[in-house]
Amino acid sequence: TIEKETFSFQTEVGQLLEIVAGSLYSNREVFLRELVSNASDACDKLRYAALTDSSLAPAQDLAITLEIDAKAKTLSVSDNGVGMNHADLLETLGTIAKSGTSAFIEALKSEQKDAPGLIGQFGVGFYSAFMVASQVDVVTRKAGETEAWLWSSDGKGSFTIEPAQREASGTTVILHLKKDAKEFAEEARIRHIIKTYSEHISFPVKLGDETLNAAEALWTRPAKDITDEQYNEFYRYSAHAFDAPWHVMHNKVEGALNHTSLLFVPTVRPFDLFDAERKSHVKLYVNRVFISETTTDLVPAYLRFLRGVVDSQDLSLNVSREMLQTDPKLAKIKTQVTKKVLSELKKKAAKAPDEYAKFWDNFGAVLKEGLVEDPSMRDRILEVCRFTSTGADALTSLAGYAERMKEGQEAIFYIAGENAAKLAQSPHIEGFKAKGVEVLLLSDHVDEFWLQHITEFDGKPLKSITRGAADLDQIKADEAKSEEKTEEADLSALIAAIKVELGETVKDVRPSKRLTDSPVCLIADEGDMDVNLERLLKRHGQ
Ligand code: ADP
Ligand code: MG
Repeated sequence: TIEKETFSFQTEVGQLLEIVAGSLYSNREVFLRELVSNASDACDKLRYAALTDSSLAPAQDLAITLEIDAKAKTLSVSDNGVGMNHADLLETLGTIAKSGTSAFIEALKSEQKDAPGLIGQFGVGFYSAFMVASQVDVVTRKAGETEAWLWSSDGKGSFTIEPAQREASGTTVILHLKKDAKEFAEEARIRHIIKTYSEHISFPVKLGDETLNAAEALWTRPAKDITDEQYNEFYRYSAHAFDAPWHVMHNKVEGALNHTSLLFVPTVRPFDLFDAERKSHVKLYVNRVFISETTTDLVPAYLRFLRGVVDSQDLSLNVSREMLQTDPKLAKIKTQVTKKVLSELKKKAAKAPDEYAKFWDNFGAVLKEGLVEDPSMRDRILEVCRFTSTGADALTSLAGYAERMKEGQEAIFYIAGENAAKLAQSPHIEGFKAKGVEVLLLSDHVDEFWLQHITEFDGKPLKSITRGAADLDQIKADEAKSEEKTEEADLSALIAAIKVELGETVKDVRPSKRLTDSPVCLIADEGDMDVNLERLLKRHGQ
């Protein structure tokens, strides 16, 4: 017989718990959202598992039940979802730190943000229970298995697991409330917290016998019947977010391939945006049954800032997740969703350029990955790209730049490097500035990569000003800036002397019109690799 075992929390989890348990936060009620969200996920998982294994089908309708014991000062959240076995408990509740754990600790340290606002986003929502509880018990039984387990911890470095009893599969999380958190043993308080977001949970949420929500998927309702506040709450609940969405897109597509999408662009940059995994966060549902979340078969990686759901009744429910993901119908939905999102962004960019600038600042670098990865959408993506330019106060599109090109200017000029402010000071730019010719300042890493694929816009070549000769002579200068005619000095003796001095280290030394104040600058030869790209590749060891 197995007895009670004690385990230490993984180091980072222990640190996280110390922070979470040790501080007083104003938004502590977030713990309830996180626990209910886990219960709902567990119901989703069981419903999905039962599709392919009918023996797993729950005996009773899937639901989430809250119970208060006012005397004992406990609050419990139960579900009859998928449950956990011994191994699951060990892995998910304590001994393995998820990638979000350290990111969460870092974010708390650096940004001094409040823990409740962040915790769910980092995928460590369960531990928020320790904001209000001095002890947490989890009684759980995995669907398809007979043993049940009790996980228990006071959040101070260790937890225990021991055999327990549970009639059916599912999980009950029991919170022994801290002295200063007794308010969460009051029915009115709990009802109020749950009401604000329970509407978006597709399973009934019950407080005792009373069902608090309609348990209807929000996205299935007509857009005209949904208020902004309801959209916002749904976003916060499903994305574990604290901001209001920057943009909401709710679309129903009817026709050969029916699908509904409810997608959000966040106002704040999610923490995992630049993780190597490039995880998607749009949930795929088939006829309101949750299928999967992190699939890039639904939304391309360059739109990974999106949150929300896509639901289609025209996909097959009776196939495995893997088979579904290679379904050509899903690929079609992906194309339609991508086009729709890009066209919405285009509209926003035209209608509200200042607001769009905020979006661009957050997610532009991600979106530009699509220029490299998705040739089929390249033109649409390029339309919504914005750039810092020496000529414009605000961000500009390539089309905007093209409109402002000088007489005789044949190329779109750019300089790529580490940061826009530094680039603006670069000696390479001097001659262009003097002539009033705009130069795009490209400072995202990804810029060098798409510039390998896109070499012209609207018939005009994109040209790096750190490469090759600058053909500034053909360009007419602004009236005000018209050059004083100076005698062309004979520089051949000077150049010869410099060549002798530098020898093999340079390919050539040339006089140039691009400089006005600085005496000299480095450029790459036409056809050679751009100076910045060379630097980037060297840094990555290539
Ligand atoms: P996330 O929900 O983002 O994965 P959490 O910290 O909220 O992060 O939960 C951690 C994990 O614990 C979940 O991914 C799940 O595997 C497990 N878990 C938590 N609550 C439940 C539950 N009620 N039923 C089944 N598994 C659960
Ligand atoms: Mg969770």
